[in-house]
Amino acid sequence: MLGLSATDQVFILTGAGISAESGIPTFRGAGGLWRNYRFEEVASPHAWQRDPRLVWEFYSMRRRAAAAAKPNPGHFALAQLEGDLQDRLFLCTQNVDGLHEQAGSCRVVHMHGELFKSRCDTCCRPPFDDANTFDPTAEIPRCECGGRIRPHICWFGEVPFHLDEIFRARGECTVFMAIGTSGVVEPAASFVAHVRGRARTIYVGPEEPANRFAFLECHLGNAGEILPDLLRA
Ligand code: NAD
Repeated sequence: MLGLSATDQVFILTGAGISAESGIPTFRGAGGLWRNYRFEEVASPHAWQRDPRLVWEFYSMRRRAAAAAKPNPGHFALAQLEGDLQDRLFLCTQNVDGLHEQAGSCRVVHMHGELFKSRCDTCCRPPFDDANTFDPTAEIPRCECGGRIRPHICWFGEVPFHLDEIFRARGECTVFMAIGTSGVVEPAASFVAHVRGRARTIYVGPEEPANRFAFLECHLGNAGEILPDLLRA
């Protein structure tokens, strides 16, 4: 149990690891997506300019994998925590799979976008729901303005979403917990360094992250096994 006080403000940062037990591959490590793909070729503005079909094939594959996945006990424990803490919990995810919402979390901040949304690469039409997978023989879908429709994902080299809101919540938290994130992808990897010294910092995952030095507590194990007990009210 965490032993939270009635005034604690909890900031949770989740990474690919929380969805690993749901069967969605992480990026790094054995079986990780970057073992089979080079991110420069499928997840960057340059890749989109050079070969948008390859980019859509990559995200279509990820849409199919995420559509078949179900939330695991780690996602459900976080949804329960939101029920307990209400607006004293800020849930920020680097994941794009939508499994936090499927588990019942209502206020999830998606700093790297959402797999089941698309947007125009040219105009400022807002992102829209889109679960389609790409037919490699078809043309890249177009917006009314003539721009191409792209996945609503923050690619390498792009600025993550909702940073103002995230930095505000980070500044107010008294407990910071990172779950299933290797601590190498910026800016999320540095969040803990900003709160270290004034907030209780906790990591949950099967191995120590690269930024282990900044965590006071490290709970080694799978999120789906650790979180239900750790987050019980
Ligand atoms: P990462 O692949 O770099 O690290 C994953 C971490 O999860 C590792 O530290 C690993 O030890 C840990 N892990 C593995 N199994 C776990 C488990 N059962 N429980 C807890 N932790 C476990 O991923 P990252 O740090 O999240 O990298 C950030 C990038 O990954 C983001 O850009 C994010 O958008 C992207 N990503 C998202 C998804 C998804 O939406 N599910 C999947 C792959 C990558």
